[in-house]
Amino acid sequence: MLVSTFRNHFNKELSEIYPATEIDSFFFLLIEEELGLQRIDLALTTQLTISEEKFKYLYNALSRLKAQEPIQYILRKTEFYGLQFNVTKDTLIPRPETEELVDWILTENKQLHASKKINILDIGTGTGCIAISLAKNLPNANVTAIDISKEALLIAKENALANNNVGITFIEADVLALKSLPSKFDIIVSNPPYVRELEKKEIKPNVLENEPHLALFVDDNNPLLFYKKIAELAKNHLTTNGKLFFEINQYLGKETLAMLNEVGYTTELRKDIFGNDRMIKSTC
Ligand code: GLN
Repeated sequence: MLVSTFRNHFNKELSEIYPATEIDSFFFLLIEEELGLQRIDLALTTQLTISEEKFKYLYNALSRLKAQEPIQYILRKTEFYGLQFNVTKDTLIPRPETEELVDWILTENKQLHASKKINILDIGTGTGCIAISLAKNLPNANVTAIDISKEALLIAKENALANNNVGITFIEADVLALKSLPSKFDIIVSNPPYVRELEKKEIKPNVLENEPHLALFVDDNNPLLFYKKIAELAKNHLTTNGKLFFEINQYLGKETLAMLNEVGYTTELRKDIFGNDRMIKSTC
């Protein structure tokens, strides 16, 4: 079969589910990333054919896209803050909001810590996207990352060493069970689970059916449990000018600020590019 014939089939099969521009971008990602072809190859050679095995791959990808599986899981990778990350169903797919949080941390600390050694802790690291992009951009930082999921940590380790060539100390632990942190830190950061069960109806089926619920959902009655626990732990484990950064639930900005103030922090709330309350910096 010709690649162009397959492409027509691909477009037709997905046209009811996705906008045309997204279908085009899926198609090009698949042929570029997985088959090593370039867009230009298709434009120049209308008669382009590929092996049986490669067609099998494309058909399999098509049926997964029809089932609304995120393209990142099909490709097993994504980009975050200009870096490559492997993703599996054990890890959340890194979000652009989280890039904004990383950017905030870097803008505040890049100059200051360009030459000074600093310690950073990322709690609930998942793919390692926050820890790794900070380590990559703050070469003098010592970065530690915690996650409860053994499977996620395996991916985070691949992402650190094999994909991005940075050394990170990974620890398998449930933060809710910790009595203290391994040392003092200049920066503690976390993007913990924060979506309430009552918000499930707002979550798209591709997220709900594919991404790890362990990384996403919290009880309606206690949505700030991770924030409170981390804020309390951090209180005794931040250095003198240390800072605690959180990505937060957009609907709980006020509540999260109030809790942090009560624990004794001075806080600053920022919105993401969509205008939603999305991140907080806290200092002692
Ligand atoms: N921002 C993610 C979402 O949209 C949630 C991430 C989290 O729970 N930490 O689903």
